[in-house]
Amino acid sequence: MKFLIVRVGNVGSSVLEHVQENLRIIFPDVSLAVAPDALPVPKEALDSKRKQYLSPVILDQLRVYADRLKVDKVLGIAAVDLYVPGLSFVFGEAESPGKAALISLFRLQSEFYGGAANERLLAGRIEKEAVHELGHTLGLGHCQDPFCVMHFSNSIFDTDRKRSFFCGRCYGKVGSVLTDGKGDPPV
Ligand code: ZN
Ligand code: ZN
Repeated sequence: MKFLIVRVGNVGSSVLEHVQENLRIIFPDVSLAVAPDALPVPKEALDSKRKQYLSPVILDQLRVYADRLKVDKVLGIAAVDLYVPGLSFVFGEAESPGKAALISLFRLQSEFYGGAANERLLAGRIEKEAVHELGHTLGLGHCQDPFCVMHFSNSIFDTDRKRSFFCGRCYGKVGSVLTDGKGDPPV
């Protein structure tokens, strides 16, 4: 399987490289690449009253991008604040199962909660959200185990409590999906 990480809008390349390194540990048998270019944040996704971006619009863009580049999964990383109808915000969103996953750095930064910048904490949060959304693309739902990376994050406290890897049950599911995918022709 081929995973591609792409920035959506203005995101530092060091963030993507860090995510790539961490994902290599979680998905050792997957080919992981970072796209050299950034995708633009689609203007039509902006709700100017909310000052937030409609996540499904960006997700659509990511799916088209994945199809065009013939990769199995694409993880978009954005800096803008995301929402979906019915929720005041989301840390990320993904097709489940599907090709496109998206995370936002906006509410993962300590500064958002009035704290001082904390690079290490931020990196851990990004990793958890990235693994979580990619887990959805592999068909995993939310897990009851509050320490499993597939546990739903209602707030940053949930994200901080959970680990960056799958519980035994979820890991088993990921393993079987990735093994099934191994027979696919190379793209
Ligand atoms: Zn989720
Ligand atoms: Zn789990």
